[in-house]
Amino acid sequence: MANPLRRSDAEALDATDPLAAYRERFVITDPDLVYMDGNSLGMAPQAALDAVTRAAATDWAAGLVRSWHHWLDLAVSTGDVLAPLIGASPGEVVLTDQTSINLYKLASAAVAARDGAVVTDTSNFPSDIYVLRSVASHHGREFRLVDTDHDTGPTPENMGLHVTGAALVSLSHVAFKSGFRADLTALTELAHGGGALMLWDLSHSAGVLPVRLDTSGADLAVGCTYKYLNGGPGSPAFLYVRRDLQQHLEQPIQGWFGHADQFAFEADYRPAPDIRRFATGTPAILSLAAARAGIELTAEATVDAIHDKARRLTTMFITLCGEQLGDLGFDIVTPRGPFARGAHVTLRHAAGYGIARALIDRNVVPDFRAPDLIRFGMSPLTTRYADVWEAAARCAAVVESGGFAPEEPDTSRVT
Ligand SMILES: *Cc1c(COP(=O)(O)O)cnc(C)c1O
Repeated sequence: MANPLRRSDAEALDATDPLAAYRERFVITDPDLVYMDGNSLGMAPQAALDAVTRAAATDWAAGLVRSWHHWLDLAVSTGDVLAPLIGASPGEVVLTDQTSINLYKLASAAVAARDGAVVTDTSNFPSDIYVLRSVASHHGREFRLVDTDHDTGPTPENMGLHVTGAALVSLSHVAFKSGFRADLTALTELAHGGGALMLWDLSHSAGVLPVRLDTSGADLAVGCTYKYLNGGPGSPAFLYVRRDLQQHLEQPIQGWFGHADQFAFEADYRPAPDIRRFATGTPAILSLAAARAGIELTAEATVDAIHDKARRLTTMFITLCGEQLGDLGFDIVTPRGPFARGAHVTLRHAAGYGIARALIDRNVVPDFRAPDLIRFGMSPLTTRYADVWEAAARCAAVVESGGFAPEEPDTSRVT
């Protein structure tokens, strides 16, 4: 066996990491914190805090209603900044609402435009499953929840039989539990072959994986901005509608921000001819200002460089798991192939909850997903190679010392 990785090896990688300087652009209140949960809530960019202060102190407090002159277009112009990060063009993306609400809007629009069933899979995020089931039910459609393997995710093989006669197929690009990365192009082609529109949830890939919505032929997409895009808690989500489809889809929550002539105050709804028709009401400007700063930082660093480091970080963690955790009752759930996963690595352990709690007590923050999964998220703008080394080493130390309580998961607590 090759020499085990030492902490000094990780430090050497940090010293030559082309993205290392980006960490200094974030607010670091505890330099020793090993934060492995950027896949759930990204750290705070200093520029995001500055943007919120500016939006609040200058635009709101001083500018008051006059600030709507430049606020009105902020959701669409921020969508234009995000667009190239997901392989979209300007005018195809808008920031609005939450991911779940955008999913409802786009899934409903798709089902209204096509006959057939609504299809998703069991590895999808539960909120997506709830929303898609409700859309099917409101439209009197069959709902197909395909039982894919929880430790992987949807593939053309396990989905193949289930897309025939579908109106809509909606899947997550990266499975929130396992970190499995679905084949965007192959599954989009499969959905189209079955006559369906394809709607992707990019929550766990936007800003960290290269996404080509254009060349994959995807119709629709949604995702959040508070994970790898570092937009802040509850920051507005995004939605994507391919340009040639925009005129043909009608979203169900029709409000004045989607109207063709918002300030004409007409009694009749006329949808805007472009991406704005998928917006509904007044955007959350302070959150949007923060999200824009997070997106701009990602665009500056480039998704390719971020993805490259994500692959190295996750590969290093998997290697360390083999070296340090091999005999301690852990299984690596996440696919081993670097292009078959996102940017988090999931371990299964019978005492997963107690171990996750003990890690948090030792200043390592992963998260826990019931019943037995610990997720370690690598967010390349902030995660250091040394963090990855410490996370694995402290995980080994916790289990070797028996320093964790065999507690039952308390799912009412977010870890
Ligand atoms: C995080 C996440 C969401 C979040 O949904 P919200 O409505 O914004 O709370 C949705 N879908 C997936 C796949 C996620 O990972």
